[in-house]
Amino acid sequence: MFAVERYRRAESVADAVRLLAEDPFSIPIAGGTDILVKLREGHRQYANLVDVHGLAELESIILDTDGTLCVGAGATFTQVMESPLVREHAPVLAEGASWVAGPQIRNVGTIGGNICNGSVCADSVPPLLVLDAELELAGPEGLRRTPLRGFHTGPGIVARGQAEVLTKVLVPAPPRGAFAAASLKYAMRRAMDITTIGCAASVLLDGESIVWLKLAFSVAAPTPVRCPSAEAAASGKPLTAQTVEAVKKTVEVDVAPRTSWRAPADFRMHIIRELSERAMRTAVQRAGGGIR
Ligand SMILES: Cc1cc2nc3c(=O)[nH]c(=O)nc-3n(C[C@H](O)[C@H](O)[C@H](O)COP(=O)(O)OP(=O)(O)OC[C@H]3O[C@@H](n4cnc5c(N)ncnc54)[C@H](O)[C@@H]3O)c2cc1C
Repeated sequence: MFAVERYRRAESVADAVRLLAEDPFSIPIAGGTDILVKLREGHRQYANLVDVHGLAELESIILDTDGTLCVGAGATFTQVMESPLVREHAPVLAEGASWVAGPQIRNVGTIGGNICNGSVCADSVPPLLVLDAELELAGPEGLRRTPLRGFHTGPGIVARGQAEVLTKVLVPAPPRGAFAAASLKYAMRRAMDITTIGCAASVLLDGESIVWLKLAFSVAAPTPVRCPSAEAAASGKPLTAQTVEAVKKTVEVDVAPRTSWRAPADFRMHIIRELSERAMRTAVQRAGGGIR
């Protein structure tokens, strides 16, 4: 049923890197919820597997002394959603994880697999983009850190070396002050459906004005994107309906939705504008502000 040609179980992250480096055609498998679907469809590039599932090194979720939340790449969506540390320090990530599929997939699918899969639909990515998350990868040359923003380089493509294993997702400590974030998903069905458009926003407020807005989308361009033009239209501006309108108008510059069987481009654009407003309003409200 599954066309696996070679399967090796890694004993540790270092062992996984060694096994991957030994065989340039091999790839890591974690939960397998993406890979097994590809294998059943007969994609041969997923046939040589190095299993990193269940490595304790990859599963921990801890808070560093500097306030950075370190989420192991092998943490499942359920572990992310249920983690008291995630809920306290990055609730928008728990919210994003809750949008993924149903309980069975969330019990098995990992956050690392969601990022490394490179899918433009990945529900964990917009919330992590508005939190300015970084990634830690282990490879033959040792550990490296890289921003999540820019890690997706094309449809289904990420800047991961063939022998690299994603070890951690690093979420910096939230800024002091009136800060909050929100993650929304538009899909045809409310449950068990791939995202038509996903959106996340984070805001820092100062009284009646927005210090900054961060806005990110999935499925709005060939890769998940941040929206620098829409963000500039809000940052430093008052909390008014005019500012919201400016964001909704400007977001067009940052995205490039396409037509697919799921939705035509103009409909996606409508949803993008609508979600920018809803995500922004929700984040503002959670930060204790209100839009006049
Ligand atoms: C029925 C169904 C519904 C789904 N619904 C959703 C949904 O609503 N939203 C959503 O975002 N996704 C959804 N998915 C996709 C999938 O569940 C997620 O992308 C999941 O996070 C993948 O994680 P995994 O551990 O299963 O990855 P795997 O299938 O094991 O791997 C996926 C990719 O990541 C790489 N990889 C995995 N771990 C690492 C690592 N530590 N370091 C380096 N590379 C690694 C693999 O080599 C592979 O390229 C769905 C899948 C199914 C089958």
